[in-house]
Amino acid sequence: MTTASSQEPAPRPGKGPRLRAALEGIPSYVPGRPAGEGPVTYKLSSNENPYPPLPGVLQTAISAADSLNRYPDLSCSALVAELAERFAVPVSHVATGTGSVGVAQQLVQATAGPGDEVIYAWRSFEAYPIITQISGATSVRVPLTAAEEHDLPAMADAVTDRTRLIFVCTPNNPTGTVTRRAELERFLDRVPQDVLVVIDEAYREFVRDPQAPDGIALYRERPNVCVLRTFSKAYGLAGLRVGFAVAHEPVAEALRKTAVPFGVSQIAQNAAIASLRAESALLERVAELVAERQRVSAALAAQGWSVPASQANFVWFRLGEDTMAFAAACEAAGVTVRPFAGEGVRATVGEPAANDILLRTAEAFLAERSDAGAGARTR
Ligand SMILES: *Cc1c(COP(=O)(O)O)cnc(C)c1O
Repeated sequence: MTTASSQEPAPRPGKGPRLRAALEGIPSYVPGRPAGEGPVTYKLSSNENPYPPLPGVLQTAISAADSLNRYPDLSCSALVAELAERFAVPVSHVATGTGSVGVAQQLVQATAGPGDEVIYAWRSFEAYPIITQISGATSVRVPLTAAEEHDLPAMADAVTDRTRLIFVCTPNNPTGTVTRRAELERFLDRVPQDVLVVIDEAYREFVRDPQAPDGIALYRERPNVCVLRTFSKAYGLAGLRVGFAVAHEPVAEALRKTAVPFGVSQIAQNAAIASLRAESALLERVAELVAERQRVSAALAAQGWSVPASQANFVWFRLGEDTMAFAAACEAAGVTVRPFAGEGVRATVGEPAANDILLRTAEAFLAERSDAGAGARTR
């Protein structure tokens, strides 16, 4: 039966739909600025891989587009099976999502609501405060050490009986620093078993420090550890939105419950599988980026900059009040970087030509600043 009424419901004057109070004041995610429009421009603002997907991956994606009229495989079964085999974990311990940010949001949703606390280092990945607040939970930010590293003892001290989830971002975005395995194990020993520890390893493939942890190894012995990985950075598929978690039950099960149905497209699923199979070629590109990172880091040190040793595909300049001026200088020279006003600038390691522009700009900036008598303010 259809009922038609000429009477409109009375609107509440001056008010739209009621939204949850938790949404008030959520900082918006700031995307990296696109490359500018000058004669030579590069985007070093979003930690993307500068190389296009391998040709085989592109062809796989294109043929998956033949079936765009169909929903994708809801459970990403082929991709999950491939990942499970690769990491030697049960299929039921792998959960995919719309980028690892999507999976991180599901983890917060699944563990923390109003009155609960989520701990993370700060500054760290800017998505953490946003997804925590969306859930209505409270952020507990533990400042990085003077060396721009996670202060794991202080993070363990911050645990209360309201703590539900702790993010450990290693390498840390935006500082590039890693935790060390022994230190991380001591931390995990202190965290109560009913608190979920999420080790966000978005940049794992770029890590060369032998003391850095392998989240998957830690997960094996610890039911409260969940590892996040992504196809967006080393694998170069940022535009396709596919990431995954490795976690024990019931965490993996909770991720299947909270997933947006059909969130990961068939194009993304098939391209991720093709990327895993093209791994040796992809890792060659990663090796080139790591070599560029060493070159950039060494050149900056020679110029007199003191930047933290990065294990990721970016470098961090702690610039304080000079942050926006440095970002503007980079943009004027042809590279966009990611400034965090009043704190510092994160610059992605990109193509050698882009890195050269960054290095020239950094050198000139330092020279100008010491001419102005300001002295080096980085630490
Ligand atoms: C880039 C990044 C991610 C991954 O994002 P996707 O959603 O997978 O594209 C996750 N964590 C950190 C710390 C990152 O920097």
